[in-house]
Amino acid sequence: MSDMKALAHLMKELEDQLVVCMRCGMCQSVCPLYDQTGREADVARGKLALLDGLMHEMFKDPEGVYERLNKCLLCGSCAANCPSGVNVLEIFMKARAILTGYMDLPPAKKLVLRGMLAHPELFDRMAEWGARFQKVFTRPVNDVVGTSCARVISPLLGRRHFKNLAETPFHKMVPVLKTRPGKSGVRAAFYVGCLIDKIFPHIAQAVVDVLTYHEVGIVLPENQACCGIPAVSSGDMKTFRSLLEHNLNSFNPGEFDYLVTACATCTSTFKEVWPAMAEAAGNGDMGLLRRVERIAEKTMDINAFMVNIIGLAPPVRGVGGDTENPPEVITYHDPCHLKKALGVSVEPRAMIKANPRYQLKEMASSDWCCGMGGSFNLQYYGISSTIGRQKRDNIVATGCSSVATGCPACMLQIADALSRSGDRVAVRHPVEIYAEQLKRHEN
Ligand code: SF4
Ligand code: SF4
Repeated sequence: MSDMKALAHLMKELEDQLVVCMRCGMCQSVCPLYDQTGREADVARGKLALLDGLMHEMFKDPEGVYERLNKCLLCGSCAANCPSGVNVLEIFMKARAILTGYMDLPPAKKLVLRGMLAHPELFDRMAEWGARFQKVFTRPVNDVVGTSCARVISPLLGRRHFKNLAETPFHKMVPVLKTRPGKSGVRAAFYVGCLIDKIFPHIAQAVVDVLTYHEVGIVLPENQACCGIPAVSSGDMKTFRSLLEHNLNSFNPGEFDYLVTACATCTSTFKEVWPAMAEAAGNGDMGLLRRVERIAEKTMDINAFMVNIIGLAPPVRGVGGDTENPPEVITYHDPCHLKKALGVSVEPRAMIKANPRYQLKEMASSDWCCGMGGSFNLQYYGISSTIGRQKRDNIVATGCSSVATGCPACMLQIADALSRSGDRVAVRHPVEIYAEQLKRHEN
């Protein structure tokens, strides 16, 4: 993004997109941030007005604009509710790219993004070291949620209750896979994603189990890299480009019919963020853009894939929990990146309902953002955890023993909120619930 031509091109695109907002304010009622602060500067309309000014004032106060622009969960609730179809997230990401191209990244972000995330093998090694030494610095706090907290007050972890890194990441358990399709006749590539690989490897194992059970051929390339969302949402197009190329080289769309992920954020990044930002990242490289579009077309959330492509034919249907063990109440949280960005909400529920051990009970406002927002949680933990607390209250009010959601980032946020309140509610992924049912049937 140091290229002034690319910068000018992005600014022009941004200008064209900004005029679509008619300042109606419909985004206010759905913005979780505005709900907390009541500040116009925090909602999409306020940020868009600011960017309009930015175009004309030519970067008078880039730091101030960057700060206001960063204070956003990138949840997409505003875009989903916008009558004019303003592509708010794309505008915010392009604006962040322009500002970062102009000012460069803060040193700490540069170290994390360019020094670590951009180098997948180094990132893996650092996570392995972290997993080895984490018990020295953390102690378990809630055995049902599976959370720990810091042993001594640390500025990075604060009062958070978090999931520890897994002792063995998924890429060590299953480094590579290439299996033929059986009776399904379908071959799916599996993109694991950082959080599932390093914190929730059992979810990745559940994906492999479910695909194998349904005789779907699996293409699991080794040395997978981050999808790039932390980079692009920080405006770091350099790291984004390098991760994009790594992933494009790993996944050859000629080898599979679909690319599945169990992470709502990764799915929406592949499907929406990659095509929106690839041209800018690739400096107009149309070959790169075409490869991105081919992958985006084939990408699917695992729940949507199982229900809409495989036809979800569980071995036992409609049989409730046995008489001695009545079904456990479970509730479901809709990740913004799944429901608002991709319209996937029925399918994860179908996956849960396929397991008769559970009875699905809806919580109030299941699609209200949980407050995670990636790096938003690191920067604005106070607001993030207040939003998370509302989600926790809605979960607990159902009387459930488990809550499921299709995004590992939401799982972390919900686990923190539940654990800090001392709740004994397990946090699961719908594919785990479904895989558990298949195992029960096999035994
Ligand atoms: S972003 Fe959409 S909903 Fe918000 S003010 Fe603009 S037009 Fe209205
Ligand atoms: S993306 Fe979410 S937090 Fe950001 S302005 Fe839109 S609704 Fe508000």
